[in-house]
Amino acid sequence: MADISRRKFIEGGLVGAAALGAAGLAGCSSPQSRSDSSSGGSGSTSGAAIKDDSWMGEAPDITPDQCDETVDTDVVVVGAALAGSMAAYGAMKNGANVIVLERNSASHIGGMTISFFNSNTQREAGVPMYDPIETANKMFYLTQNMSDMRLNAVWIERSGGLLDQLRTDFLEPYNQYYQVLSLEGIFPDPTQEISSYISTGVAFSHDDILTDFTHNFHQYLQDQGVQFEWSTRGEKLQQDDSGAVTGVIATQGDRHIYYHANKGVVMATGSFGANETMMRRFYPPYYAEWALENNAYNAYMGSDPVDETMDDGLGHRMLGWAGARMEEICGTLSWQSTA
Ligand SMILES: Cc1cc2nc3c(=O)[nH]c(=O)nc-3n(C[C@H](O)[C@H](O)[C@H](O)COP(=O)(O)OP(=O)(O)OC[C@H]3O[C@@H](n4cnc5c(N)ncnc54)[C@H](O)[C@@H]3O)c2cc1C
Repeated sequence: MADISRRKFIEGGLVGAAALGAAGLAGCSSPQSRSDSSSGGSGSTSGAAIKDDSWMGEAPDITPDQCDETVDTDVVVVGAALAGSMAAYGAMKNGANVIVLERNSASHIGGMTISFFNSNTQREAGVPMYDPIETANKMFYLTQNMSDMRLNAVWIERSGGLLDQLRTDFLEPYNQYYQVLSLEGIFPDPTQEISSYISTGVAFSHDDILTDFTHNFHQYLQDQGVQFEWSTRGEKLQQDDSGAVTGVIATQGDRHIYYHANKGVVMATGSFGANETMMRRFYPPYYAEWALENNAYNAYMGSDPVDETMDDGLGHRMLGWAGARMEEICGTLSWQSTA
């Protein structure tokens, strides 16, 4: 087994997250004492509610020695959708043994297109190359200066290489449909979303959501030795005495399994759109109201069986129990900034 350097692994994981629009999880960053908690109600954006972390609830009271089984690996990824699959890809490419835990019985994905920047694949298809600094600045501007410039930079610098690598490793060998989109000149107004005035989108489906892409990509990862554990829900992050995360306790049916990770755990559990307390805690009231009434996942999941509670914010709560904190979201919010 080749050693994976921390830098390479983090870069690989971030490329997946940033390139695939999953930057929301980056909000969990620095430690916060549980004693910060106040008991204010959720649903208000007043100063008092800012410190309210009642959304976290209590971690389940279970330890590795109470589990039915312990499984040892290098990297555990929680969540098998776009971000988790790309994290597994990055870790696998760097030589790690990888296990992916997914609470659903099969994969599912929303969307048709993924954005990449200045790849050879796009260049060969006739799409112009863009100025990196100008593009990064426009992304920042379009997100009302709220996007994380570090993630913008990772996407700018590395997503093109990722697409070219995916093309060699997976798209061509597995006959995966892909179509470089050229929007140049169609929406020349720079106040539009970034993909509307520069051509970064690559479609991976003719007319459907990305389900086939994900199924095929999972097959590729499994062929490369990545292990997928379906219907397996991460419940709690295990930590050592120093606070370092050492693994994940998960449930599979009525069994508890401790997945011990020698190198690290990647949380890629998506949104918390179905968690009313979290939506009201972290979003402005008008947005929370609208989103709770229009759960996109319920509407667009195609034929895959889906656990409708999958975006209940459990992953964020697991991170909170382990000491991470959520960044506050500014009260004036547009669609671009949610992206
Ligand atoms: C209708 C629709 C259209 C879209 N169109 C586009 C588009 O064209 N282009 C684009 O870039 N984006 C698009 N998006 C957004 C894009 O789909 C999402 O940003 C992206 O899928 C998020 O990926 P993710 O891996 O971060 O999270 P998710 O897709 O939400 O995946 C999280 C996964 O983690 C699993 N999980 C959660 N908790 C646990 C747990 N405790 N244990 C184990 N597993 C867990 C969930 O079951 C899920 O499989 C669209 C979204 C929708 C709904």
